[in-house]
Amino acid sequence: MKVLSVNAGSSSLKFSLFEMPEEKELICGVFERIGIDNSFYSLKLNDQKIKKEISLADHKIAFEILINELINNNIISSLDEIKGIGHRVVQGGAYFKQSALASPDNMRIIEELASLAPLHNPPAITGVKAAMEVFKNATQTLVFDTAFHQTIKKENFLYSVPYKWYTDFGVRKYGFHGTSHKYVYSKVNKLIGNDDTKVITCHIGNGASITAIKNGKSINTSMGFTPNAGLMMGTRSGDIDPTIITYMLKNKTMTVEELENVLNKESGFLGISEFSSDSRDIEDGIESGNEKCILAQEMYVKRIVNYIAKYYVELGGCDAIVFTAGIGENSIKTRADVINKLYALGIKLDKEQNNVRGEERLISTIDSKIPVYVIPTNEELIIASDTYAMIK
Ligand code: ADP
Repeated sequence: MKVLSVNAGSSSLKFSLFEMPEEKELICGVFERIGIDNSFYSLKLNDQKIKKEISLADHKIAFEILINELINNNIISSLDEIKGIGHRVVQGGAYFKQSALASPDNMRIIEELASLAPLHNPPAITGVKAAMEVFKNATQTLVFDTAFHQTIKKENFLYSVPYKWYTDFGVRKYGFHGTSHKYVYSKVNKLIGNDDTKVITCHIGNGASITAIKNGKSINTSMGFTPNAGLMMGTRSGDIDPTIITYMLKNKTMTVEELENVLNKESGFLGISEFSSDSRDIEDGIESGNEKCILAQEMYVKRIVNYIAKYYVELGGCDAIVFTAGIGENSIKTRADVINKLYALGIKLDKEQNNVRGEERLISTIDSKIPVYVIPTNEELIIASDTYAMIK
């Protein structure tokens, strides 16, 4: 059975088509600059990359072009071969504890939840509606970034603000990257041959979050009410003293929107280094002695180390630590910097094993008290598997 995994942004549409249950990826790609000028799409098929420039008025047209490409490349012979479409939805609030069908009721709920994720939920809704128009006979599902974290207990998900903020406005920790944390957790359990484990999963990409998982359940995670909480990120501040916000608003000529933009798009690596949001550039900067890049990396690493240490205590020990996503999978330096600061926990890096990018591997020494793994994430596959399970 063929299942399409979809991640719709406001002007983009990422997709992967899987043969299930074999979990074989047949094609993947992205449509970019939808609804604006210079739009194009790129496909990856049989290790070949194809890029085409074409006008893309909306997401529906992108889906129609995708179908043509699938037929022209002999991946499908008719539209009906695609039985399921799984849509990534960032914010499922407290309603969705697992993936769900895109029924009218569920669609209404994610529309209501858009106020909690104004940048993310509306484009996902656009994507679902466009897919429904094009793939009329397929089962459409919603797979949430937040669902995996719904097992977190109140003492961990509440902020110490008036309780009414939670009951009246939904102010609480929701957590994100749930599909990624869930995926690498199930992978690491297979590697260590045990299901009842305590694992700390570090999803370190442009956006970054760390999760403490016990016996399959998320018990705490670093992101919060929004994806700008916890760690320092590429352009996001992560946790800061909340009074900085009111101080900056009172004392500077900055609107609320401008401040929100700075905290989300001009902070993190970019804000501190005044150089780049990309960890590859930061590493180059460090090589050439750029002091702000050195400082940015130190701050970045320290926050990751602090979360790992905190979750080690919270879990009451740890059976494995996993690094995943862009930086976690590829930055040899960041992993080494983090692990070397964890020696107090008896964690030891195997320098040679750590010399790896984008590959599943044990990177700690045999005598390390906790094994540390690199496991490439695959959020698209989780979306396809959940969709397949719902169809079954
Ligand atoms: P997103 O949160 O946008 O999905 P990714 O998980 O794709 O982000 O991570 C993107 C980041 O991964 C890039 O900004 C870059 O900093 C980092 N990255 C990718 N390759 C490397 C590499 N070889 N070395 C260091 N960092 C890398």
